[in-house]
Amino acid sequence: MATAGAGALLGGRLAAQERGRGGRGARGGAGSAPTRPIPPDVRNTRGIDVHHHYAPPGWLKVLAEQKALNVEPWMGWTPAKAIEAMDRAGVATSYSSITVPGIYFAEGFGNQQAPPGAKFKNDVVALAREANEFGAKMKSDYPGRFGIWASLPLPDVDASLEEIEYAFDKLKLDGIGLITSIGTKYMGDASFAPVFQELNRRNAIVYTHPGASPCCLYALPGVGPTTLEYSHDTARTIVSWVNSGSADRFPNIKWIFSHGGGSIWSARYIGGEIGRDPKAFAAMTQPPRLLSHLRKFYYDTAATSNFLQMQNLKTLVGTSQVVLGSDHPYGDPVDYILDLRELQTSGVLTAQERQNIERENVARLLGH
Ligand SMILES: [Zn+2]
Repeated sequence: MATAGAGALLGGRLAAQERGRGGRGARGGAGSAPTRPIPPDVRNTRGIDVHHHYAPPGWLKVLAEQKALNVEPWMGWTPAKAIEAMDRAGVATSYSSITVPGIYFAEGFGNQQAPPGAKFKNDVVALAREANEFGAKMKSDYPGRFGIWASLPLPDVDASLEEIEYAFDKLKLDGIGLITSIGTKYMGDASFAPVFQELNRRNAIVYTHPGASPCCLYALPGVGPTTLEYSHDTARTIVSWVNSGSADRFPNIKWIFSHGGGSIWSARYIGGEIGRDPKAFAAMTQPPRLLSHLRKFYYDTAATSNFLQMQNLKTLVGTSQVVLGSDHPYGDPVDYILDLRELQTSGVLTAQERQNIERENVARLLGH
C-alpha cells in the first residue's frame, strides 16, 4: 500500500502544529490503551462501523502543507493498523470516509487546525478522484473489511456527477461521504439539486460528517469546533435538507448523520412537534411532519454513546435508526462496543437493541 510513507510524511510537521487542537474528541484515539476490560465475546460482535476514517496520501500532503491537519491521529496510520483496532472490537467491516475538513478549501478550512482565515484553492476534482481510487484499493486489498463512502468534488456539480458515475459504476464504492457544509452551502442548497437528483435515482446512501462553516468556526474565541459547532453544523444541514423541500423531492436517498444527529434534538425545530404529554407522544400513530422525515434518517453513535443522547434517539426516532460509529482513528471502536454494553446493563438498551445498533440496522440498509 502507498500508506507506508504517511508517518514519514507527517513526522517532520508534528512539532510545527499544536497537537490535537480543536479536532479531537474526548476519546483516547487509536494509540491509547483501553482502560476497561474487554470480555472475550466482544470479538464475536460482527459489528459494522459507518463512521471510520481513512487518509489518502494526497489528502494528507495538502493538509500538512497548509498546516490544516490534525496530525496526531494519522501518525503511523495504515489500513492494516485500522484493522487491528477493528479486530479488538469485533468490528467486521468499517465504512470509511475522509474526515473534516473534507477536500474543498477555497472558502476556508472547516477546522481550527488551519490558521484563522486560511483558504486554499486546490484541485478538488483530482483530490476526490485520488481519495476514491485509494479507497477502492483498500477494499480490494482487504476484502470484506472496508466499505468506502466516496468523496465528491462539490461545489462543482458537473464534476460531481461524473465522480458519482465513476465511484459507483467503475470503483463499486458503497455510498457518498460529504461534509455537512460545503463552504457556506448546506445540503438543501438549490445548486446541489442535480447531484441529489442523481443520487436519488440510484437509491444512494449518503453519509455526512460534520465540518464548520466559515460563518461560525471562530464564533466563540478559544472554543474548538467539537464543543458546539460540529453538532450545530449537523443540525443545520438536516434543517436545510428538510426545509428546502429536498427531503420530499429526493426520498430515495438514505442519510446517515454523524454524532447522533448533533444538536438537532435540542432545537425548537423538534420541540414544537412533540407536545407536552410523553404518553400521548408515545401513542401517536402518525409522527408529526418534521419527525416523520427525521425518522427515515440514520444516526451514528460517535461521541454519542451515553445514556442521555441514546435515550433521546430512542424516544424520538427509535433505536432502529441508530448505527455504530467509532470515528477511528480519533476514537477507538472497542470503546463504543463497551459503551453499548454498559447502556444495556443500565437498562437504556435491550440486548436486541444493542445488537441491532452494532450490526443489524445497517446490515439491512447495506444488504449484508
Ligand atoms: Zn469523524
